[in-house]
Amino acid sequence: MQRGRTPLRRRVCLVGVLTVVAACHESDAPTEPLADPPISFSVTDPFTGSLPIGNTSSPNGTLALPTYPTPMLLKITVSGQTTVTPYPDTYPPYQLDAAGETWAGHCSGGMYIRYYPYEWWPMVPCLSRDYYTPQSSISGYAILGGTGYATRTGGVGGLYSYAGALSVTLEPVKAKVSVKASKYVVTPNQTVTFTASISPSAVGPLPIPWSIHWRWVPDAGSQTTPCGAAITCPLQVAASGTMFVDAVVNGEAQTASVHIRVINCLTGNPLLDSLPILDGLKLAMDSSGVSDSNPAARRERKIQIKCDIYGCRAELLPLLPLPPLPDSPGDGPCKSTFPPADSTVIGEGHVHPFRPFSGLLSQMPYGTWDSLPDMCVHRDPQDPSDTLRHGSGFGPSQPDYNHVGGTGIPQWIMDPDSIYMIPGIPGGTPADDNARKAGKQSWGRKVGSCTRV
Ligand SMILES: [Zn+2]
Repeated sequence: MQRGRTPLRRRVCLVGVLTVVAACHESDAPTEPLADPPISFSVTDPFTGSLPIGNTSSPNGTLALPTYPTPMLLKITVSGQTTVTPYPDTYPPYQLDAAGETWAGHCSGGMYIRYYPYEWWPMVPCLSRDYYTPQSSISGYAILGGTGYATRTGGVGGLYSYAGALSVTLEPVKAKVSVKASKYVVTPNQTVTFTASISPSAVGPLPIPWSIHWRWVPDAGSQTTPCGAAITCPLQVAASGTMFVDAVVNGEAQTASVHIRVINCLTGNPLLDSLPILDGLKLAMDSSGVSDSNPAARRERKIQIKCDIYGCRAELLPLLPLPPLPDSPGDGPCKSTFPPADSTVIGEGHVHPFRPFSGLLSQMPYGTWDSLPDMCVHRDPQDPSDTLRHGSGFGPSQPDYNHVGGTGIPQWIMDPDSIYMIPGIPGGTPADDNARKAGKQSWGRKVGSCTRV
């Protein structure tokens, strides 16, 4: 018996295989979402199934694969090998992987994966065994959708027997939707342009399928659905609210959102008037226990403002345990410790959760101000003037200035009455410290009837 040999075909096929593999390392390209509206389904788990030999005289068999309601970008892996034993045993047994082998113009033992209506076929081109070393597993990427199955092709006749199962894994490629706003703070009826994107957007030349819907939910009032499925959405914003993008990203239902703050009384500070700093400080203050009647139960909470190509956001940082000693790292009523800032951090902030005393110390007690808990009174026995650290209404503390000197990142501080900013001037010399203090700015949280935060 002579085996069909197709070296030319094999060479062409290998070029095809290598092209696909090489393309998988190319950089991601932006993709447009599908025009179809999102539907509510979620396919996130990998599928693994086994295709055993049903009949030792033939490798032929079929394995049902998952149904995907919309096209999905999947990593496909076929593992295992088929052992082929000639009969009578004039030749030794040999192995085939999912590529199978060409024989008399047919493919034997090869794995095909078909989907309707989006199909990919075959798993890999059928190869001539004489020029090919079987692999323990073969992987590739494809966009599949609808209903599908895997088939192992039939044998070469009754003079061979077959053994060994192939396993098929279909793994949805993960990607995440995000939404970017052109501005996060605006005056009434300014236009904000929202842009949705996913990351990663593709694997090699294959774009990750996704679709979106926009949903604007005002802080007060009823929601609207502007812009349909377009990738960008300009919206004239009358009052504060949240833009949601409801997405199906490679079969997975996801939602991203961004809050837009509309105020009549901008601060005049470009960062404070454009980035989600006010929202971040509000989140930190709301999380601080500022209304707790026990001042010792309150905590300075801290935020980082992060900006990357997917937009800007204020992240409330995790609350650390109370510092065991006044100079230990930790978060307390009048102390917070920041983690190192990565390159996306363009600002930091924290709150002083105590109503400030704005009068003269000689007039104490007077007005509605909060006493600091004992643990905040960190006295230096050599310095009688060091009685109260920050938090009692005098704006940034010396440790706050020192922190900015170390990071060079601007720091925003809010207490129940005011917002303060230390400019991001780095350095530890007295001149640096003086420059930071000279550059300090402050704003009231309210101006007349206008509430900034
Ligand atoms: Zn502070």
